[in-house]
Amino acid sequence: MRILRVDSTHPDPAALADAAAVLRGGGLVAFPTETVYGLGAHALDPAAVARIYEAKGRPSYNPLIVHVASIGEARGLASAWPEAADRLAERFWPGPLTLVVPKSPEIPDAVSAGLDTVGVRIPAHPVAHALLLAAGVPLAAPSANRSMGVSPTTAEHVRRSLGGRVDVIVDGGPCPVGIESTVLSLAGEVPTVLRPGSISIGELREVLGEVAAASAEPSGRAARPSPGMLDRHYAPAAEVRLFSPAAREATFAKAVWAATDERRVGVIAFAPVSASGAEVVAMPADVPGYAARLYAALHAMDAAGAEVIWIEQVPDAPEWAGVRDRLRRAATGAAVLPGE
Ligand code: AMP
Ligand code: MG
Repeated sequence: MRILRVDSTHPDPAALADAAAVLRGGGLVAFPTETVYGLGAHALDPAAVARIYEAKGRPSYNPLIVHVASIGEARGLASAWPEAADRLAERFWPGPLTLVVPKSPEIPDAVSAGLDTVGVRIPAHPVAHALLLAAGVPLAAPSANRSMGVSPTTAEHVRRSLGGRVDVIVDGGPCPVGIESTVLSLAGEVPTVLRPGSISIGELREVLGEVAAASAEPSGRAARPSPGMLDRHYAPAAEVRLFSPAAREATFAKAVWAATDERRVGVIAFAPVSASGAEVVAMPADVPGYAARLYAALHAMDAAGAEVIWIEQVPDAPEWAGVRDRLRRAATGAAVLPGE
């Protein structure tokens, strides 16, 4: 495995040509996007795509998002391109929005996990964009971590999770958005958000009018419109429990120690919390700032050996939907998912 360090805004063309050659040859290259680090492979090469599933330990029923450099290329991967896709692309691309559209026969089944649709997006990160241009092929790229774990927002996170399983890691610094793209399906009657992200349903409605949110309620696998809705996803090694802001002040430290049998404790909260012996991360109060830091905070907890992580609930407001979704799925406590 080689690490190629590049400038986040003006990446060295020689380094990108190197990584692009690995990709064209069927290799795996992790690279920064504005959301999280992606584990890229030539999307039209089934053997290369199979290596993604193997490296991640990803179940074969979970499809991959294909990254492209232009709208024309995106259109070429679709068997039908709804007019709505052009309006969305105009407003949100390049950016953290994935569009699910009917797929072209050119897309290997492994990419779409046997579905007749494909998820596509144009990433905004200058390194991702330059790498796509250098490679000259569409890149299938899920998050560059072992399946079910916390997505990586730095090259070091990738190295720790995938290490020798990738050929190259392009290190372009931390990812600015920090949570995965909003996934919107245009394949049904009504545009439907399959996975919330930093682009909110309200912003999508401004462009499209009616937009539905897929239910995130626990249910059978077959009933899920998007495999990204698997409940246990985006989870750190530790047990995660959510607590309400009201519980922070007086009862917090006591509750932590009483409930956790003196296991190693981590706390992720909006304000510094005094819980002696615990690993504490104080989070920004704004959504973009919080999202950008969340996965790094979870990785820091894992690195510190936390066995239980207490996370302060975020506001129940629409702009927090993407973050709330990731917290819900990181939490394994019965208090968060009754009956699970
Ligand atoms: P990841 O790239 O690891 O963040 O995961 C990509 C997610 O995008 C998947 O788990 C799915 O939820 C979603 N996705 C990708 N392609 C499709 C598709 N064709 N249909 C529905 N969801 C998709
Ligand atoms: Mg992922």
